[in-house]
Amino acid sequence: MNKTDSKILGFPYPNPSVLPCGAVNVGTFAIDPDGYVYKCWEVIGIREEAVFHLAKPEMINKQQLRWINWDAKDDQECRDCKFLPMCNGGCVLDAMKGKRNCTHWRYNLEGMLGILAYKYENLVKKEVK
Ligand code: SF4
Repeated sequence: MNKTDSKILGFPYPNPSVLPCGAVNVGTFAIDPDGYVYKCWEVIGIREEAVFHLAKPEMINKQQLRWINWDAKDDQECRDCKFLPMCNGGCVLDAMKGKRNCTHWRYNLEGMLGILAYKYENLVKKEVK
């Protein structure tokens, strides 16, 4: 199934993901109008969350290391979870706050796959006619 098929079916087929979000990527930043640099756009404006300032790019603080070193596999429940390859622990900011943000597939995989299979089967039948 390709992306076009997924759009026709109404929602995407579950895919594996390499990272939970860009914030854990070494080269991903969000910058506020005053030059403060953050790892996550959800914390823009919260100065304690800034990882450095554009005027002092050499300043790497503990906040940045906390994001870069974050790994869902450090959490026992995520490590044991069969959805880890497609979820990677969910929102990292939420996880850092102790809030688990599981992929919706964890709770409705069978039902969603059933809907996809039904829609896909009908799509193929229409194309064959
Ligand atoms: S679904 Fe929940 S437990 Fe599983 S990897 Fe994602 S956040 Fe962790």
